[in-house]
Amino acid sequence: MAEKGEVPYKTYLEENELPSAWYNIRADMKKKPEPLLDPATFKPVTAEALEHVFCKELVRQELDDTTRFIPIPEEVQKFYRMFRPSPLVRAYFLEKALDTPAKIYYKFEGNNTSGSHKLNSAVAQAYYAKQQGLRGVTTETGAGQWGTALSMACAFYGLDCNVFMVKCSYEQKPFRREVMRTYGASVTPSPSMETEAGRRINAAHPGTTGSLGCAISEAVEAALSRDGYRYVLGSVLAQVLLHQSIIGLEAKTAFDKISEKPDVVIGCAGGGSNLGGLIAPFMGEKLRGESDCRFIAVEPASCPSLTRGRYAYDFCDTGKVCPLQKMYTLGHDFIPSASHAGGLRYHGMSAILSELYDQKMMEAVAVEQTDVFAAAENFARIEGILPAPESSHAIKAAIDEALLCKAQGRRETILFGLTGTGYFDMTAYAKYNDAQMSDTVPTDADLEASFASLPEVR
Ligand SMILES: *Cc1c(COP(=O)(O)O)cnc(C)c1O
Repeated sequence: MAEKGEVPYKTYLEENELPSAWYNIRADMKKKPEPLLDPATFKPVTAEALEHVFCKELVRQELDDTTRFIPIPEEVQKFYRMFRPSPLVRAYFLEKALDTPAKIYYKFEGNNTSGSHKLNSAVAQAYYAKQQGLRGVTTETGAGQWGTALSMACAFYGLDCNVFMVKCSYEQKPFRREVMRTYGASVTPSPSMETEAGRRINAAHPGTTGSLGCAISEAVEAALSRDGYRYVLGSVLAQVLLHQSIIGLEAKTAFDKISEKPDVVIGCAGGGSNLGGLIAPFMGEKLRGESDCRFIAVEPASCPSLTRGRYAYDFCDTGKVCPLQKMYTLGHDFIPSASHAGGLRYHGMSAILSELYDQKMMEAVAVEQTDVFAAAENFARIEGILPAPESSHAIKAAIDEALLCKAQGRRETILFGLTGTGYFDMTAYAKYNDAQMSDTVPTDADLEASFASLPEVR
């Protein structure tokens, strides 16, 4: 594919070039994210309190905002080798189709059975749970990618896995559920009648199709009520961004190999884990004053936490059982419309990304779902990969950026995160193909109503 002087279509790393430590971006932040608060006292949480809910080692990682590099356990490195490195792809065909002077690269995380980047953190979390001698873990899943990834990791380490799946995804994606069960997990639609939190949410919002916030409450309650279980979370938390830094570290090494560097890095943002991981080493350079790279978070207009949310302390879950974190949030009662990007339907955002956005180190845009699917189909036809709806938010923004470069005659290097594949999202593609897809954007009044539930933290 590559002509003389051109970079190859795909850049892979050799095994000895793979990262052996994760990068903790907080170590390079002068102003760090605010501490997590205990939901009962609103005081900073202690490690001891967190250890009732989360695995010990993961609590340590969550609270460590000073260690720059944290070694990846040997066993986790070995598991990574089953599906990593992921390729850094030069999108020559897309560049040509857009007739843009911009160079477009994407880091493709869909090359594993779970179909997304989520496996990067699932493996680490299951490993630490096993090390601690636990029997199993509980979790929530939105679109189903996290649940699938965690099921795979738990099967590998011989752990029991209980997944609370947001009801609208449970109904839209029966095959996702079967993949999880194939890997030995149990799957419950949320809100369910099995937990206090689920019963309360069902009573308050009859017929609700659920949200990540509800499912999190249920999974935490389930972990607390069973011996030898802990709760694990697939996004939002600092530990998850830490594990996902493998994406950015690999990308950085690959760019170094081809003597390139991105001018702008773009990623979709649900809870912020893939974006936080992809940008980590590049943002580190910017924080240390070594580069002026731009970063763009792309979110759905139906769930616009960065572009229209408040930067405030809020509960991470609807049922208020998790710690509070200071983040861009739409309010923990916000239930987004039943859009087709389940992985982006979260009311808040990673505290790390929220703080970086507040410091104006990162930009954010919101895009509408029909435009996203138009970009997705375009991409599938041009570059061959059938993208997940979540990932397609980044594709849409990358195409817009490349077209802007064309209009302004700028030769910029764009990197975007292609987080996963869309094989289980064909109901959504069918809606788009039948021209039955709609864009539901919350009104200011809708948002004001959910901001009213923000807790008063002094
Ligand atoms: C979960 C998911 C996302 C969004 O989650 P983040 O934590 O924001 O990365 C994006 N893309 C895919 C394919 C996902 O599965």
